[in-house]
Amino acid sequence: MSTNLKILVTAGPTRESIDPVRYISNHSSGKMGYAIAAAAAKYTKDIFLISGPVAIEVPKDVYLFKVNSAIEMETSALSLYPRMDIVIMTAAVCDYRAASFSDNKIKKTGADTLTLTLVKNPDILASMGEKKEKQFLVGFAAETENLKANALEKLKNKNLDMIIANDVTKAGAGFGSDTNKVTIFSKDGDEKEFPLMPKKELAEEIMKYIFSKTNN
Ligand code: C5P
Repeated sequence: MSTNLKILVTAGPTRESIDPVRYISNHSSGKMGYAIAAAAAKYTKDIFLISGPVAIEVPKDVYLFKVNSAIEMETSALSLYPRMDIVIMTAAVCDYRAASFSDNKIKKTGADTLTLTLVKNPDILASMGEKKEKQFLVGFAAETENLKANALEKLKNKNLDMIIANDVTKAGAGFGSDTNKVTIFSKDGDEKEFPLMPKKELAEEIMKYIFSKTNN
């Protein structure tokens, strides 16, 4: 199957700078998102991959946009968004960033504690949900408890068409691992559970499932 669809994938963590040498981030490896971009590239020439800092090979035949912070990812994603047909947000966007960036390295003081004030980052997927026109919007939900309830709440609150839920406490699932185990919940009420499998194989299954729902 070959399509003319334009597909946007976000992947990896975001990195929120505190000062010139320090940042806040998370353990996202980017493997799931990169595997999805590679699987999607088998169907269409127009894959746009926005990636936070990762150390893995870039799939062939994708347009790569490298970003660091959530704000940079938002700027890049929202500028591409109006032209996209399918959007798959696998990035582990940091929920918070430092309220202010210190131009100089923050010095150690005699005090035993240091307080860092954080401010909320924009929710990129939620703002895409608000502006949704033709786009088929897919989110990821990495959960440690109440998988189904939390995933369904995100599906509804962010106005998504599909949410891919993974229980990151399960062995072999989630950040860093080469395998993953997910359940996909769709807006139409369908629920599909996949067995534990390599992220590359799972990415192929996820793309097939997305295309079965978009009728392309
Ligand atoms: O609410 P939560 O962070 O669990 O939602 C996860 C989904 O939302 C993922 O698809 C993620 O890429 C996206 N997200 C986002 N911007 C944020 C936080 C999450 O696009 N600031």
